Amino acid sequence: MTMRRALIIGGSLGGMFAAHLLRAIGWRVDVFERSAEDLAGRGAGLGSHAALVAILKRIGIDMSAPLGVAIPRYVWLDEKGGVVADVPRPRMMTAWSRLYRPLKDALPAELYHAAKSLVRVEQDARSVTAIFSDGTRATGDLLVGADGVRSAVRAQFLPDAKPEYAGYFAWRALHAEADATPAQRELLYTRNAFCIPDGELWVSYTVPARDAEVTPGKPDYNVV
Ligand SMILES: Cc1cc2nc3c(=O)[nH]c(=O)nc-3n(C[C@H](O)[C@H](O)[C@H](O)COP(=O)(O)OP(=O)(O)OC[C@H]3O[C@@H](n4cnc5c(N)ncnc54)[C@H](O)[C@@H]3O)c2cc1C
Repeated sequence: MTMRRALIIGGSLGGMFAAHLLRAIGWRVDVFERSAEDLAGRGAGLGSHAALVAILKRIGIDMSAPLGVAIPRYVWLDEKGGVVADVPRPRMMTAWSRLYRPLKDALPAELYHAAKSLVRVEQDARSVTAIFSDGTRATGDLLVGADGVRSAVRAQFLPDAKPEYAGYFAWRALHAEADATPAQRELLYTRNAFCIPDGELWVSYTVPARDAEVTPGKPDYNVV
């Protein structure tokens, strides 16, 4: 039987997970990513969950290095920084690069096609064809639209599904642990912190540094 071929549009986290999971069940995959750059520097902190660890293991990603920074507690602060509640609740905070890098490195380079921007999809009863802005085409048995919140795949097949402004926005920043005061380090670096001033929400937690470093003194502090 010839190997079935999946065309994955978008080479970020969603595309990488789809690629590895399909390869694990015997598909040939090709990932087409619009960006010409390496994506690893793109994101900041991410929470992790048991399901994420289970999928990474299933894909065969080496899990011997720490996935992130273990945070033992949650703290709720009032508007002046006073502690309202401080409870044990362990959580592992990871980073975008810490997830993306091993997923990308585990995919054979010839299956990843950078600087390929999908413009249109054509399909018939037997196959699906992706058409790219440089005029090239790729044909397969399945196409996965992992091309993000402004997906070209979704725009073609579900033209009425458009992103809507939710009524709020987020400021996001990373603060180097080396720049923190001892008091900030003691209260915040071991806790997932929340503060809820009127009409606003502050969430902050320690994450691995941009280079995925998690040893003390190296992680960043992620503030939203
Ligand atoms: C500031 C910020 C903070 C975030 N924080 C968190 C967090 O704390 N926890 C969490 O779980 N998530 C967080 N997210 C969301 C997280 O980044 C996304 O969940 C994740 O990146 C989604 O992955 P994705 O592969 O679905 O889409 P994306 O990462 O958006 O990737 C889509 C990919 O498709 C490519 N693409 C787009 N159009 C085309 C096209 N026409 N042809 C080919 N390629 C195309 C893009 O270049 C991109 O690489 C955050 C996002 C942002 C912006």
